[in-house]
Amino acid sequence: MHAQQDCNAAKTQQIEVGLVGRGISKSRTPSMHMAEARAQGLSCAYRLHDMDDPTYANMSLAGLLDRLEAEGYAGLNITFPYKIEVIDLLAELSPNASAVGAVNTVVFRDGKRYGHNTDLWGFAEGFRREFGTEPQDHALLLGAGGAGVAVAHALIDCGVKRLSIYDTDQNRSTALARQVMRNRPQCMAQSVPDLDALVAQDPPDGIVNATPMGMAKLPGSAFPIRLLTSQMWVADIVYFPLETELLRAAAERGCRTLKGSGMAVFQAVRAFELFTGRPADPNRMKATFDAFDQ
Ligand code: NAD
Repeated sequence: MHAQQDCNAAKTQQIEVGLVGRGISKSRTPSMHMAEARAQGLSCAYRLHDMDDPTYANMSLAGLLDRLEAEGYAGLNITFPYKIEVIDLLAELSPNASAVGAVNTVVFRDGKRYGHNTDLWGFAEGFRREFGTEPQDHALLLGAGGAGVAVAHALIDCGVKRLSIYDTDQNRSTALARQVMRNRPQCMAQSVPDLDALVAQDPPDGIVNATPMGMAKLPGSAFPIRLLTSQMWVADIVYFPLETELLRAAAERGCRTLKGSGMAVFQAVRAFELFTGRPADPNRMKATFDAFDQ
């Protein structure tokens, strides 16, 4: 059956929520939500619904949502590979979810299902706190996949005026440049085919890695380390490991850096608020996230 962990805390309000995806057994999200609920005196169960588990072999995403809604869940986090597929099962989308075209948080309320994208706000909030005063005229985004779409919109919400996008699949970077300019017309976005030429002719103020390069199973850096300069700020959304090759090299050159834990923690902060209607304490949720590495 699904993994269940109970918050056994207090008694005032019982909240049931969960995460639907594949290969999610190591997710830190249940612990972040349950510890935050406990600290606020709420009783909460956050369950993992891992569709790779044989128990779910005959269950569709639609069937699972029907069941959990009927069981009284307050909402769900949705992750790989269902963030797009889930949209057809929802009544309404938030503006950010419609802009990105993906949903990572579903709220069940008054018999209706609302879709949100807290990855966008999550990246933006971590970014504002760390890089709020850095130059943001021109940013380079590496990776135009699922996470890259949310990060592109977030960067513009944080004040970036020109966004260059690089992806080994140039169809993706071109499509994302068009999408982001449609949704955020205040920004100029372009797909760039050649990083050496970009840095030589129009160096970005900062770069964000939203490719899987740098993960423990995919070592290396999508941005050539030789092109880093100490003026650049550097963010990575990979968080296994927290210190990627790119971030290590950037710190060695004196760049300001932002780890992938920022987005992971703040997407949970916003989802907690959507599930419970209460503000969450980001520092407390980050402490729970960081405790996994000790
Ligand atoms: P994805 O597979 O949807 O997209 C990855 C994109 O990167 C693809 O378009 C691919 O063509 C491109 N790419 C791969 N290697 C490249 C390279 N060397 N140079 C340029 N482009 C390259 O993946 P995703 O869902 O967008 O996730 C990307 C990474 O972000 C994963 O490692 C994931 O763990 C991480 N992530 C982190 C958070 C967080 O909260 N911190 C959230 C979501 C995803």
